[in-house]
Amino acid sequence: MRVLITGAAGFLGSHLSERFLAEGHEVVGLDNLITGSADNITHLLRSDRFTFYQYDVTEFIYVAGELDGVLHFASPASPVDYLQLPIQTLKVGSLGTHKALGLAKAKSARFLLASTSEVYGDPAVHPQPETYWGNVNPVGPRGVYDEAKRFAEAMTMAYHRYHGVDTRIVRIFNTYGPRMRARDGRVVSNFIVQALRGEPLTVYGDGSQTRSFCFVDDLIEGIYRLFNSEETQPVNVGNPNEFTIKQLADVMIELTGLKAGIERRPLPVDDPRVRQPDISQARELLGWEPTVELRDGLLQTIDYFSSRPDVLADEDEGQG
Ligand code: UDP
Repeated sequence: MRVLITGAAGFLGSHLSERFLAEGHEVVGLDNLITGSADNITHLLRSDRFTFYQYDVTEFIYVAGELDGVLHFASPASPVDYLQLPIQTLKVGSLGTHKALGLAKAKSARFLLASTSEVYGDPAVHPQPETYWGNVNPVGPRGVYDEAKRFAEAMTMAYHRYHGVDTRIVRIFNTYGPRMRARDGRVVSNFIVQALRGEPLTVYGDGSQTRSFCFVDDLIEGIYRLFNSEETQPVNVGNPNEFTIKQLADVMIELTGLKAGIERRPLPVDDPRVRQPDISQARELLGWEPTVELRDGLLQTIDYFSSRPDVLADEDEGQG
């Protein structure tokens, strides 16, 4: 197959590109590098089956030759990023999705949308099955991401129903692993960077809010299976093991021997109280479930950051 991946230099896009290459496919990667990093794909450029263009996918996308798949992974994806890049977040979810769908239609390619658990907002149903419609504040600061992704899902289904494009939608829950940015502001990367620097872990609010963390290799396996399946309805892919943020901080302290403890910070606006995927659909349709335990995945991620002092030092202070 020959596939195009938007956001190819991002955390998930780079892992996904790697997976398609490992399966013997050809990958065309696009990324405007506003939150992605060329560093994530340097190793992939050695393959003659990988090509990369620095490009903003909210503009018309021209690609020569045939494509079997278009996978739309471009978007700022951490709360800190989409608060700092609200218009770009809205544009890539709306205009970017439209352009990527248009390309898939023109090439008769299968399309996969990277959607998110954020479509469920601050959920009133727990855990969240795909049939839950969500509880999103459209005018709050997170609304730019949540509504862009909800629009992207609606647009994907419209192209599917009206134009007959062969589409897939994955709803991705919190994911962590190597190649997260040190200062993208998400809880796992924040805690690891803080622990490696011997600084206190910043727990927002009272730390009783929950998330369910999936290691990146498990997530990519689920997405790869969904792409190759026949399922056109949205499918949750994530790890159903739920932890409070306080519990996550305790595990991090245990794994790193951090002495500095935790430091409380205010809870961000509209921060969801709970989040846990119901993965019955993924189990049934894809025969998929996560296999990496939190402690093992965290150790691999800590190793990545420890072996990359450049990543730790690279970015500006002040986020997160
Ligand atoms: N969080 C925290 N400390 C941090 C970063 C985040 O306590 O340094 C909390 C945040 O308020 C949220 C959870 O951790 O409740 C997950 O936040 P993240 O930004 O990773 O992703 P989200 O699931 O909110 O999109």
